[in-house]
Amino acid sequence: MALEDTSYLPTFATVEEERRHRKERLAAAFRLFGKFGFDEGVAGHITARDPEDPERFWVNPLGKNFKHIRVSDLICVDSKGDVVEDQGMLNVAAFVIHGHVHAARPDVQAAAHAHSLHGKAWSSLGRLLDPLTQDSCAFYGDHGLFDDYTGIVVDPQEGKRIAEALGDHKAAILRNHGLLTTGWSVDEAAWWFITMERTCQAQLLAEAAGEPVKIEAEHAALTASQVGSHVAGHFSFKPLWDMIVQEQPDLLE
Ligand SMILES: [Zn+2]
Repeated sequence: MALEDTSYLPTFATVEEERRHRKERLAAAFRLFGKFGFDEGVAGHITARDPEDPERFWVNPLGKNFKHIRVSDLICVDSKGDVVEDQGMLNVAAFVIHGHVHAARPDVQAAAHAHSLHGKAWSSLGRLLDPLTQDSCAFYGDHGLFDDYTGIVVDPQEGKRIAEALGDHKAAILRNHGLLTTGWSVDEAAWWFITMERTCQAQLLAEAAGEPVKIEAEHAALTASQVGSHVAGHFSFKPLWDMIVQEQPDLLE
């Protein structure tokens, strides 16, 4: 696991303030996922670890449209999958996937998964993404492939194997399913998802048009260190946060 300075992350006087902050970022991430069309029926979830009890995480309630989610709609789930705060039904797949990711990766504060169009189209190819663009280098050597599909993820063993496929990476492609991203903040996990979806779209477009030229390994690795760091992912979310809070302030309710 990469050792990196975390001093860019905000600090808080109380755990309540920190929880409120994480929940606001989470609600904003859902609004953005809704705005970008990443929803597909009841599929998709973004989670944020609770700052007080690391075994608990906050997640969207099953059946609530991403475009309508407010801070007060988020539910808190414990390590057994029980909803411990606020009302709402839990998506079992959210618990099985995210529960294992949060357990396997104590460094991960947030994880995002959705059935976005280009992510799921790319996932059906069963391949890792290539370094075709500067932006795609964020994932160079830093995403895994869960090369298996057996149905909706309800089996705890499958959640465990997805976490293993993720490994120490920031993201994973779940074959025939979609994308999974993580972050040291909600901001980071949400940003990686948004840019990974577009990276899948860019590679699909490029391969449909011809034979794209790959960035050489040495330059891809250097670019990865520039655009793929935790701090880069965290701050890349800021313009989107500023926009969505200004446009849809009710998300903070
Ligand atoms: Zn899914």
